[in-house]
Amino acid sequence: MNNFTVEAIELTRLYGGRAAVSDVSFNLAKGQVLGFLGPNGAGKSTTMKMLTGNLAPSLGSVKICGIDMMEDPKEAKKLIGYLPEMRPLYKEFTVDEYLTVAARLHNVDRKQIKKAVEIAKERCGLGHMSKRLIENLSNGYQQRVGIAQAIIHNPMVVILDEPTVGLDPVQIRDIRALIKEIGQEHSVIVSTHILPEVEMVCDHVQIIDQGKLVFNGDIDVLKRQRMGNKLLVGFNKMPELADVAKIKGVADVELAENNMMRIRIAEGAEPHEAIVKAAVKNGWGLYQIAPDQTSLEDVFIQLTYQDGAQEKAA
Ligand code: ADP
Repeated sequence: MNNFTVEAIELTRLYGGRAAVSDVSFNLAKGQVLGFLGPNGAGKSTTMKMLTGNLAPSLGSVKICGIDMMEDPKEAKKLIGYLPEMRPLYKEFTVDEYLTVAARLHNVDRKQIKKAVEIAKERCGLGHMSKRLIENLSNGYQQRVGIAQAIIHNPMVVILDEPTVGLDPVQIRDIRALIKEIGQEHSVIVSTHILPEVEMVCDHVQIIDQGKLVFNGDIDVLKRQRMGNKLLVGFNKMPELADVAKIKGVADVELAENNMMRIRIAEGAEPHEAIVKAAVKNGWGLYQIAPDQTSLEDVFIQLTYQDGAQEKAA
């Protein structure tokens, strides 16, 4: 028996012979927040539907806390809370009425329903909204109600599909804080196409492209990749490119914007000190040496659109 809350084992889903999801495997542990990223049509929703037991895989299996979704879907589903992209809200209900119905649908013990509603409201900052009709709530508060219904039965796994789409910046900040808080007690999977959101909220990232996982790893690995292996260097007196290229640990060098040079560092090398020394020795007037940050978007594009991207999957 392992400690995984979610095990996706070689998941494949075919549509008319074409694989929308192909051989996707990963595990999630308690307390992890996994960001699930991918371009449109990559297979995110199809994977989510298989994880939540709403779609049968063509091949492979899903286990929730060790329970096989195909063999015992009722028990496995009890352990999941799900907020689909289209919020399943009854807008003519008050918050209390709706969450009471949600608790019943999730088979919360009748005697425990009132307490479960109170706890979910408190966790989602909805305490003062109990008697309000959902249709009169702001978009951000409606999203909180959507999340409250997903956690009302205190599930082990919470799956949120695009939870911050359509919210304003303050609402986005609040919902992200809420997701982080939920992540401390549950396993959370957040599907999103907003890259900074993944950096802010998740500790683990998966990138899916054309049905295949092209990245599966710690957020720090993605951040390191973002920091890249390049330096942006500014000289008052521009040296010849060839002279900079000769410095030990420099793989190559090119001219960059604002009269600077972009230096690519050789694998495993740290040429910073040698660059400074060469600049002093030759009077190049070094005024800046800093890591050249690749944008997260660039990392994403490198992973999803480059040849051989699949080979990078962990
Ligand atoms: P994402 O959520 O990443 O945008 P989807 O999982 O919705 O991607 O879709 C993945 C691929 O599967 C797409 O090419 C989509 O057209 C296809 N697909 C999704 N659902 C169906 C379906 N019911 N029938 C046929 N093809 C589908």
